[in-house]
Amino acid sequence: MRRSSFFLPTLKETPSEAQIASHRLMLRAGMIRQSAAGIYSWLPLGLKVLRRIEQIVREEQDAAGAQELLMPTIQSADIWRESGRYDAYGKEMLRIRDRHDREMLFGPTNEELITQLFRDNVKSYRDLPKILYHIQWKFRDEVRPRFGVMRGREFLMKDSYSFDLDFEGAKKSYETMFTAYLKTFKRMGLTAIPMRADSGAIGGNLTHEFHILAETGESGVFYDVAYDELAAKGEIDLEALDRLYAATDEKHVPGGPGVPPAEQLREARGIEVGHIFYFGTKYSKAMNAVVQGPNGDPVAVEMGSYGIGVSRLVGAIIEAHHDERGIIWPASVAPFQVGLINLKSGDTACDAVCEDLYTKLTAAGIETLYDDRDDRAGVKFADMDLIGLPWQVVIGPKGVAAGIVELKNRATGERVELSAEAALARLAG
Ligand code: ATP
Ligand code: MG
Repeated sequence: MRRSSFFLPTLKETPSEAQIASHRLMLRAGMIRQSAAGIYSWLPLGLKVLRRIEQIVREEQDAAGAQELLMPTIQSADIWRESGRYDAYGKEMLRIRDRHDREMLFGPTNEELITQLFRDNVKSYRDLPKILYHIQWKFRDEVRPRFGVMRGREFLMKDSYSFDLDFEGAKKSYETMFTAYLKTFKRMGLTAIPMRADSGAIGGNLTHEFHILAETGESGVFYDVAYDELAAKGEIDLEALDRLYAATDEKHVPGGPGVPPAEQLREARGIEVGHIFYFGTKYSKAMNAVVQGPNGDPVAVEMGSYGIGVSRLVGAIIEAHHDERGIIWPASVAPFQVGLINLKSGDTACDAVCEDLYTKLTAAGIETLYDDRDDRAGVKFADMDLIGLPWQVVIGPKGVAAGIVELKNRATGERVELSAEAALARLAG
């Protein structure tokens, strides 16, 4: 992509409405623009990142055996009456009437719709287990939308739903999703700590929230210091987790059973990027999602739901990966892998080397943003650091005369001088 034609409105000034780094940087890097409170347009650069995150989520869901479908954003109030949640949901639900005065709503989540789909189409235990998911926009009329895409009103969520014949099966599905979540977040350069989200109720310890630790996180969390060691080794699994303590402060008061001694307990702030939940037959009973069991008797299916905040993750990744100059994208989610800076656009020799390298990078399948603008070097450097591509290649008249270009690693700041061919070989390798 040529910077001169790319729709990338970067800002020099820090927008006053943004309170946290990720929100400031997403506005400054031309990734998003607000259209109404908590509702955003995704500009090309932001959309590229959103799509990459979405794709990682999709690949890990598919690898775990979940099947993608797509349910609509607009739902009928009828199914929510069946589950009893239409009135219970309150003001967070955006309610709409169509031209026939039928009550509709913009889905805040999809348990009802998926349960209806399941009940109408699956009749036998032989069709179980199933995990179905979609990646779709949700609307929740949050009291306080803030922090940009972190707490939006319209936001992109991956939500999966599992259907099993019995509790043992449901537990297996839960564990499958749990493992898939750890892999998913790790691929994005994040250490997500799974935390017990609920103590008492049915299926009590079968609900976990996944939190990214960040000072700007909205949730207060408590966890055993041993977590840090596990996380550093990248070895958090369900078994290791069972021996440790981690919880959100919403439902847990430190000091209860299983809580480590004070010197072992860390208090921190977390960003909730995922939430998994076993809820048994709550919806299947209310909505009659029943299959014929092995001995011919009807069985209400055991269900779970598994959410990931796809659009929130864009902000969460930035919170975890930035410095004073801008974003530092992990390669797996970066909008482009390479930023090519032409220090003297219009100079025949510089242009020739840049164009040649740009063509070769593109041909090698390396997504490159080529800053070919007729602008000051300082502006180009600042912009490139701001948008945080993993690699920068800087090409100027002096280097061209000497047959060298500069390759800079955005994360470490490390720079090396080498020939354009060697730079290409490194980036392609
Ligand atoms: P929160 O406690 O942050 O309000 P929640 O518990 O209501 O979230 P869930 O119903 O568990 O959210 O939704 C699954 C995931 O969707 C959450 O873990 C979070 O990452 C994301 N999410 C929820 N609400 C929002 C929002 N308003 N904006 C962006 N992402 C959200
Ligand atoms: Mg939650």
